[in-house]
Amino acid sequence: MAVIAWIGLGNMGGSMAGHLVAAGHEVRGFDLNPEAVAAAETAGVKPAAGIAEAVAGADAVFTMLPKGEHARAVYLGPDGVLAHAVTSTLLIDSSTIDIASAQALHDAAAEAGFRFVDAPVSGGMSGAKAGTLTFMVGGEAGAVADASVYITPMSANIFPTGGATSGQAAKICNNLMLFISLAAAAEGAVLADRLGLDKQTFWDIAAVSSGDSWAMRTWYPMPGVVPTAASNNDFAPTFTTELANKDIGLAISAARDTGTPLEIGEHVQQLFQRLIDSGQSGMDCSMIVKLVDGSLDA
Ligand code: NAD
Repeated sequence: MAVIAWIGLGNMGGSMAGHLVAAGHEVRGFDLNPEAVAAAETAGVKPAAGIAEAVAGADAVFTMLPKGEHARAVYLGPDGVLAHAVTSTLLIDSSTIDIASAQALHDAAAEAGFRFVDAPVSGGMSGAKAGTLTFMVGGEAGAVADASVYITPMSANIFPTGGATSGQAAKICNNLMLFISLAAAAEGAVLADRLGLDKQTFWDIAAVSSGDSWAMRTWYPMPGVVPTAASNNDFAPTFTTELANKDIGLAISAARDTGTPLEIGEHVQQLFQRLIDSGQSGMDCSMIVKLVDGSLDA
């Protein structure tokens, strides 16, 4: 079995790293947040004092970090992965980041003699816990195939997407659709409630009808229907509003670069921005429902 370094043990990374432990790998984990490290330790991840200790002699490094700036710092910084790993180590970034940062990581890794793939995921915290994530993997074909071996215990689907940064391109477009459908589920749920429909009955109908979506089935923002949804846990974050705003911003930026009008996406980003401006950046993004039911002064 392999030695794997895991940097970024948050809502997603902690559960994902646990599946690699369960598959028999030695996993050395590092996160700036000691609580995240402690939680991963209960799943068998061995805490490392820093990036250098985590990556020393590892067969593969996974990163699961918030944004491009964090991924650049972790890979390219003086105390980072490229400075301390051996070049035989396969580098796998599963964060959702902007295409320019992903390209910069591919370029820097190649220049330093490493193989690197961008391998963002879809499936949310529930998919991370269940080991059923979908991975979109961009890079040189041999590196993508080798990365897939490590990815398998965490995934239900692995899609090679093409060359460098193509995984991020797929992920950004997927999440544009996700957040638009989350906003749609919020509007439908509140309107159904105000029209006097039983909330469970309406959800049962939509789940087998044309209003269905992953966001509706998994992140239903109206409490009392989908037990594992954040709406039933006071909107404690499974996917923060800040990260949702980041993702839809990545789509808008890519759309500007390609001359693609995203009128609905831009409107949904304004909704997330209102949540952030009212102090909800660290709460779950399904709080968008509170802009529909009027319960948040934002
Ligand atoms: P999170 O904020 O819960 O976790 C990120 C972790 O990275 C944090 O624990 C933070 O302390 C750590 N970190 C930041 N900088 C670091 C550094 N320099 N060194 C070490 N650790 C560092 O975020 P998350 O929800 O786990 O998301 C991670 C990535 O996965 C994001 O890019 C997000 O967009 C993407 N994603 C999230 C979900 C979801 O449902 N939460 C689903 C798919 C993809």
